[in-house]
Amino acid sequence: MTDTVSAARRSENMRRIRSKSTAPEVFIRSLVHRLGFRFRLHRKDLPGKPDLVFPGRRKIIFVHGCFWHLHGGSCKVARIPRSNAEYWIPKLRRNKERDAEHVRLLKEMGWTPLVIWECETTDSKLAAHIATFLGS
Ligand SMILES: [Zn+2]
Repeated sequence: MTDTVSAARRSENMRRIRSKSTAPEVFIRSLVHRLGFRFRLHRKDLPGKPDLVFPGRRKIIFVHGCFWHLHGGSCKVARIPRSNAEYWIPKLRRNKERDAEHVRLLKEMGWTPLVIWECETTDSKLAAHIATFLGS
């Protein structure tokens, strides 16, 4: 019984965090759109179902939620709940390993991927950075 309750609560938490983590993606999409670039969304035939795909340029943008993709370094957004660390850490590590594998495969296929982290979406230089990436 206890297990059932905690499992239900856990998946509710996951749902909440997951839906919240799509906000950065929506933000990047509209930013790129305003910059005048056209893209495809979530192409299922590519490793990792990249968030934004620019077929003519062979470029890809991933927008990673800092929590789900285990952003390291000085990131303040990626904090793992201490009480559930045993549960989260292996799970998030797997996500990160998968991300690295997707980037490797995409490069092999001739794509140039760019990862934008959730915590970078507030950076005032981001638009210029994206324009340079896509224009080069
Ligand atoms: Zn971050």
